[in-house]
Amino acid sequence: MKKEMDIKLFQFEERLKELEKGVKKISLKECQQLAKDIREAWLKEPENVLERVRGYRSAENEFVRIIVIYFFKEISMRDEKYFKQSLEVFMAMADDWSGRVKNYGLVQAFMELWGSFPNNLKELLVKTDINENSALKIILLRSLARFLAKGRNREANLPLEQVLLEEVEKVITFDEPYVILGLTSVINEYGSKYPEIVAPWLEKWAALDNTASHYIVREALSKKLGKSLSEEQTNLLQDRMNTVQQGLEKVQTPLLLDHNYKVVYIERVVPTLLHWINVFYLPFKYGANPYRGCEHGCLYCNARYTHEYLGKDQATFQNEIIVKVNADKALAREFAAPRWRHVKAKLVNLGSVSDPYQPAEERYEITKKVLEVFLKFENPVCISTKSRLILRDIELLKELNEEKLVNVMITIPTLDEGLLKQLEANTPTPLERIETIKQLKAHSIIVGALIIPIFPYITDNLERIELLLKKLAEVKVDFAIADVLNFKNQVRPRFTYFLQEYYPELVEKYEKLYTYGKRQEYAEKAYLKSLINPIMKKLLKKYELHHFDRMLKGKFEDKG
Ligand code: SF4
Repeated sequence: MKKEMDIKLFQFEERLKELEKGVKKISLKECQQLAKDIREAWLKEPENVLERVRGYRSAENEFVRIIVIYFFKEISMRDEKYFKQSLEVFMAMADDWSGRVKNYGLVQAFMELWGSFPNNLKELLVKTDINENSALKIILLRSLARFLAKGRNREANLPLEQVLLEEVEKVITFDEPYVILGLTSVINEYGSKYPEIVAPWLEKWAALDNTASHYIVREALSKKLGKSLSEEQTNLLQDRMNTVQQGLEKVQTPLLLDHNYKVVYIERVVPTLLHWINVFYLPFKYGANPYRGCEHGCLYCNARYTHEYLGKDQATFQNEIIVKVNADKALAREFAAPRWRHVKAKLVNLGSVSDPYQPAEERYEITKKVLEVFLKFENPVCISTKSRLILRDIELLKELNEEKLVNVMITIPTLDEGLLKQLEANTPTPLERIETIKQLKAHSIIVGALIIPIFPYITDNLERIELLLKKLAEVKVDFAIADVLNFKNQVRPRFTYFLQEYYPELVEKYEKLYTYGKRQEYAEKAYLKSLINPIMKKLLKKYELHHFDRMLKGKFEDKG
């Protein structure tokens, strides 16, 4: 018997190692089967097997982590005395940066556990504070909604239904994307099964003076739940939201820049700072943003969509800034967690969807504290910014640089100051950016220049681009990267409006040029080649701006 157990365990560990080595994807069914197989081994030698599996909870491969979750769920269902230990593992994994681990691993496991441990989980749900652990709160709500929607033993579950809706109501105005998207699926999952129970709650939430709750109600109306409501109920909900919104100051999407907008800072505690970036050609796999939204307010910015997750108009991206007040602590927690030790591609892009040195930083100094965490954990960082404020932290950058832990990327799309004034609401002039680079280079910091975006037919003149490259060479930029404007995420209407105002003769030319990609979001390939090839293949070498070997890349030796 012992031999059989050893074989099973051996096979399991071999499989996990194989996954760790690079098999990217397996099915969730296979994860479940592996968890069941290892449970068989556990039955024969519980403590030994449990410890060995526990060791994999911080594995780099997300599917391995899912198998660990399924295993702990399996043993909890088998023997109540292991429930407490499993709960500890789940709570420690709640802020996993992988959506798969959260959604398919934890939500699924908790859903199955609600039937066996309703009181323990109810107590945990009620006492979990959204400000302290929003990830766990949402996982518990989602798993409960899914469990209730299955509808087994409805009578017995009635008290849990009440708890679900009361707890949703406590957090429905919390405008953090993960919370809003999580609650949206809670309402849809549970509400489409029991629309009559959810309808009165929707009426209350529609009457709130709050964009996040309106987003959730609107989403509910557009999904299966909406189809189950009567026309009368739907109209009532719409009317309530419209009445509230008429009373609010309506923010119009600024199709042209308004330099006098009022900025509001919204302070938030976040469970995590890192997010995964799944773009194969980028040198980093993780991003971090101390702020959500960006006061620089570039008209061509394709990160504005991130505010839609808050139920907000894209326009508010530049004036409703979410300040992640505990960003440094959240990051330190993530770097200290055993699973980060297993991550091979440790380079993090600071400023992946907002500028970390935007004006808010002057007041909050969060980016500075975050950089101190990078230094403390000796974790490499690539900072993207347009701001001069980065020079405030020069001493810190020097320390990071001594350890070869930092790259700075400064974006300069063009030398045309007037054009940039029309396109960027609140940024330094091109020459000020070049001066910033000069000062960074004076301290030998590796700096890359991003000539992004190049605006077709406006800033794509090769002679002018060469002039910019020459200036960059004078201040000793290490490398430069050029790319053309794209029309991703609603950039097309804003930019077309800009063209209509300032370059009406180009509107049609852009229509003809932007025909490439699924949503015709890219300029056609021939144009891209004719512009980017001479820059990247000829001009960069001519001006010694091709030292890409100095650029930090994804993989680093673990110094821990
Ligand atoms: S600085 Fe970057 S993130 Fe900020 S608005 Fe401009 S393009 Fe968007």
